[in-house]
Amino acid sequence: MTVHTKGDGLPGPDETRPHLGIERAAPRNEQMAADKVECNACPVLCQISVGRAGACDRYANEQGVLVRVDPVVWLRRAPNHAPLQQALMARAEVGPQALPEAGSADDPDYFVTGIGSSTTYPDYKPAPFIVASKVRGVDMVTVVTEGIFSYCSFKVKIDTDRFLGPEQSAVRYRGEVIGHVTTAEYGSQMLSLGGVHHLTGGSKKEGRLTLEAMHLLGNLQPVEVDIEQGAKVRLQAGQAPVVNGVAESRMRVGCGSAAVGIFAQQWLGLCDEVVVVDDHITGVLSEHQAGRCLNMKPTGVGIRGRKSTPGRYFQVASPGDGWGGTDISDPLSILEPFDPEVAWPGLRLLMTSTTGEHSAWFVLDDQLMPQPAPMPEAVRQVVERIGENCEPSMVSVLFLAGAGGSLRAGVTDNPIRLTQAIKRALVNVTIGGASAYVWPGGGITLMADVTRMPQGSFGTVPTPAIVAPIEFSMKLSDYQALGGHMGFVRTLEDSLRHGAWHNDGAPQKMVWQAPEGVQPWPLHQPPMLG
Ligand code: SF4
Repeated sequence: MTVHTKGDGLPGPDETRPHLGIERAAPRNEQMAADKVECNACPVLCQISVGRAGACDRYANEQGVLVRVDPVVWLRRAPNHAPLQQALMARAEVGPQALPEAGSADDPDYFVTGIGSSTTYPDYKPAPFIVASKVRGVDMVTVVTEGIFSYCSFKVKIDTDRFLGPEQSAVRYRGEVIGHVTTAEYGSQMLSLGGVHHLTGGSKKEGRLTLEAMHLLGNLQPVEVDIEQGAKVRLQAGQAPVVNGVAESRMRVGCGSAAVGIFAQQWLGLCDEVVVVDDHITGVLSEHQAGRCLNMKPTGVGIRGRKSTPGRYFQVASPGDGWGGTDISDPLSILEPFDPEVAWPGLRLLMTSTTGEHSAWFVLDDQLMPQPAPMPEAVRQVVERIGENCEPSMVSVLFLAGAGGSLRAGVTDNPIRLTQAIKRALVNVTIGGASAYVWPGGGITLMADVTRMPQGSFGTVPTPAIVAPIEFSMKLSDYQALGGHMGFVRTLEDSLRHGAWHNDGAPQKMVWQAPEGVQPWPLHQPPMLG
């Protein structure tokens, strides 16, 4: 039978903190080798030898004492006049260094994140940092903890028209299924990666590789995935996607119909017909409402596919990595013969994709067959303007997690009150200082952009689960009302000087946070100060 210590190796709430002058000792499990300490911070319960780290590399045995290895991350507010370049040092490490004073007593420049803050899973102690500060005359508190999430995933938005794979297709990382293709959005393909079923519901290998891919993605590292019946895609938050070895550059200006609407006036007089090829909606200028409003003549053009409304066609081809996210390389392949009752020799036809990357100019011959011809300069300029209006393609990675479990016990004796206070917008929730969107409905289901968090915000434990920071900021009076651990509220200065109340030996470091306008300062959110 395995016997474990009853503590987590860190001092308990009833122990005096070392900075108050009393040393702490590692709790002992009498059946464990004398030179080991047991870490109970997660259910893995590592028994760690002197000089070694536990399975997650976050805790180590330092001469018989369990210590935290990685630092607690503080955010330092960048001055509002800081140039963007400096602001974007948000993810660059500035420390470790001698920690400065807290700044203005009425609007401090420092904010402690949950990164490296240390807590147990499940939580049975007050959160490691419960920090009081005064912000613009209001007494505030920020309750900071480090969550261990098995219910979490990454929603990945990939700005491309290119076909990545059918909806619901499996997404594999190093051979294991770690997610699937989900509903496409406007100009972007979407993946859902990770989640509890891949982490814990499949084989051990599936769980391990899912965790590895999630950890990399969250920490802004590249991950290459294979989509069944689709493409190989390199994903990295904040960078261009690489689809089958080719870096994507442009996000489409809109669907084919939108492109017709945007550029109709500029084509008037230069073209008799424009077909904007798009996997979703292919637009045909003369039939489209935009062309009709400009009194454009019908041209008798015939389009393959299913007509939706005038000048808007679905399914002109199969999805692919050709023109406009279709599989075509020859635009004429989507045309039916021109209607001889309507079309005329010399008719000028522009065909373009929704990014302007593909375009061709044709003139009808005497048999009403489109013949390639040099594109007039004025037409080329409008095609180039399509490209100019395309935003750069990017991979966006949002962390989505459920924080409705035991971590709430570190905040309050009565967890439902925290959930209710969040729903009443009394609490601002951040993840590593990044604003989190809280879903309506039950629980505390959060979503945040990983590029707004400090580098290295995510860790892992081999249960397997993701370790992620979380911070709850609110008025001190609201904290008291929801049953907060008032006996553990400490000043910002004391927290800066001594770290977490349990003083696990973790070093502290500073990172810049982008100025407001780029990223809101966590303590300036309207719910608390309004
Ligand atoms: S995996 Fe990390 S947190 Fe979990 S018991 Fe081991 S050292 Fe502690």
